[in-house]
Amino acid sequence: MPLEPSYSHIYVENGAADYPFAKSLLEKFKRAKVINIHDYKEVFNRPKQDFDLQKQSPKLILAVKKDKFLYDGSRFVQDSNNINFFYNALSLNCPYDCSYCYLQGMYSSANQVCFVNLEDFFSATEQAIEVRRDQSQPLYLCISYDTDLLGFESIAPYCRKWIEFCRGRAGELLIEIRTKSANFSALADLPADPSVVLAWSLSPQEVCHRHERKTPSLKSRLHAMSQAIQAGWQVRLCIDPILPIDNWDACYRELVDIIFMEIKPEALLDAHLGVFRMSTDFFSNARKRRPAQELFYRPWKRERGTITHPEAEREALTNYVKTLLAKRLPEEKIRIW
Ligand code: SF4
Repeated sequence: MPLEPSYSHIYVENGAADYPFAKSLLEKFKRAKVINIHDYKEVFNRPKQDFDLQKQSPKLILAVKKDKFLYDGSRFVQDSNNINFFYNALSLNCPYDCSYCYLQGMYSSANQVCFVNLEDFFSATEQAIEVRRDQSQPLYLCISYDTDLLGFESIAPYCRKWIEFCRGRAGELLIEIRTKSANFSALADLPADPSVVLAWSLSPQEVCHRHERKTPSLKSRLHAMSQAIQAGWQVRLCIDPILPIDNWDACYRELVDIIFMEIKPEALLDAHLGVFRMSTDFFSNARKRRPAQELFYRPWKRERGTITHPEAEREALTNYVKTLLAKRLPEEKIRIW
């Protein structure tokens, strides 16, 4: 079953309620108290908010995004070499609560912002397709980059809307929807589309349990992934971040075994591996906001504005998991951060 929040309060920015996407969201929470606001930033960017407390009962904020419908690719993702790489921010924050997540340091609020003017995002994407630097490659757009849209799909059907937008655009647009959700059923009635990659982040059950609060179990995610493959979708496997928990090597060996008991290697589009990394500013904010997160107190290394593992540890983690995967997948299908 998808785990999705219920909202007691919904803040609605001036003008947002007129959008059909907002109307359908409000329809789902008829008992919520609706509070009209001038600008979502009044609520979302307020100083001295308690992120930890808000995360226990986040409120929903419906807003209209005024600009920045696309962001240039980031050095924190595996496709940073793709010159047509972009991501967008359809929603701020995430229904899940991973202890390694940079959102804890990026935002002062744990409330969930949903931008409801999808048409503006679509127009900006159409323009970006037209002017993309490498016309021989599609525009590569991650739409679930700072959030987990599929985990939120039964509330806000962003994935469905984007998949519909992708129809007929193969070769010019490729979107990635990254998720820890088990909610493939929310998309199961849609035909698979070659412009869409569904990317599942999987972790050993021990990591799911200790570091990925509110997420579905490994078993449920794997089942959803398998359903997507059977339905003909392009599916990416992500093991990111690989965390050095106790007996991490045995845990990741078991994870890879479990994955390939369920999934045929040739059915995967590719695999992305990564380790913990967070900008120094976000790390410092996150540790102040959530001092009880044990992960923040490891002997991390500061490296060019990023907090990550010392090099030897980073290499040990990625090389080990890469070697496990390379027994099942061609090396060129394995991408590493
Ligand atoms: S699923 Fe991703 S975006 Fe959501 S809390 Fe976890 S790491 Fe952050």
